[in-house]
Amino acid sequence: MKDIKSLTLPQLKEEMEALGEKGFRAKQLYEWMHVKLARGYEEMTNIPKSLIAKCQENFTYTSIKEVMVQTSAIDGTRKFLFELADGNLVESVWMKYHHGNSVCISSQVGCRMGCRFCASTLDGLERSLLPGEMLDQIYAITLATGERVSNVVVMGTGEPLDNYDNLLQFIKMLSDENGLNISQRNITVSTCGIVENMRRLADEKLQITLALSLHGSTQEKRAELMPIANKYHIQEVIDACRYYFEQTGRRITFEYSLVGGVNDTNEDAENLCRLVEDLNCHINLIPVNPIKERNYIESERRDILNFQNKLEKKHINVTIRREMGRDIDGACGQLRRRISANKSTN
Ligand code: SAH
Repeated sequence: MKDIKSLTLPQLKEEMEALGEKGFRAKQLYEWMHVKLARGYEEMTNIPKSLIAKCQENFTYTSIKEVMVQTSAIDGTRKFLFELADGNLVESVWMKYHHGNSVCISSQVGCRMGCRFCASTLDGLERSLLPGEMLDQIYAITLATGERVSNVVVMGTGEPLDNYDNLLQFIKMLSDENGLNISQRNITVSTCGIVENMRRLADEKLQITLALSLHGSTQEKRAELMPIANKYHIQEVIDACRYYFEQTGRRITFEYSLVGGVNDTNEDAENLCRLVEDLNCHINLIPVNPIKERNYIESERRDILNFQNKLEKKHINVTIRREMGRDIDGACGQLRRRISANKSTN
């Protein structure tokens, strides 16, 4: 069965017509789901009961339930744990910045990319999320906080380009003027570097920001931390980033998690400069958030600043990511993992 919340307005119109309904019903339903953020048909006061019955017969209606919220005492960041209709858990994060509220969403339940320092991938991939389930995370957070979301980053659990079609549909719906109408310029998708899908995304010519998880500045170093690098050579990935910029005019963001003694030396910084020197890009340095299953450690403050300095000297745009919500299982997948483990031992 199709999921009604995962259909664009034109698709929903088609479906309504196929059910013998008037086109304006699609617009009404779409508005209930994507503007008024209705959690179910019972909230839809101007839709006839007969149509609701037809919808229930022909479509699923995604829902998510808040299971837990942790609020950071340091910066007010809130981490939400949601339960999907099938019992799976996903986590999303709400961050308040002076320029607006940002939500970080998950694109899959678990992940099969296997990055060495990441908690989301430890149990592999369970399944991909539907467009409606990605939207639901934003809708539920909007309702819970009572505040508008202005930025969305797809940087939670999962590899968004491993769920390509649903991701694309989600972006179109999120930036649709008939829905939440979030500007594509305020949407960022982070990928570990699935080259053919980076190129496909470039050809869509959207205005979203593409963030590439680099984490190593040579093929060897990158492959040590990211198994996906064995499939796509670092140079292929960089070429795909250049292609993305050429097609969209959008500056690439590189994410580089600094791991103490692994990728934070002067030589690493120099290699990184050479790798990206002719690209229009921004580098985000992220002090690695250690997970207990691996023995990676955060770089020394001094090494982080030195690394940043080296890049700045070569006139590369670089920032050290502000660490938000470190006190609330901030690293990808930590909260979900802790709660799922408790659930299965109960
Ligand atoms: N699969 C996508 C998006 C999810 S992860 C990707 O790989 O980009 C979002 C970012 O957080 C990625 O750059 C990822 O490598 C990084 N990350 C994951 N776990 C981390 C940790 N423990 N410490 C620091 N960064 C981490």
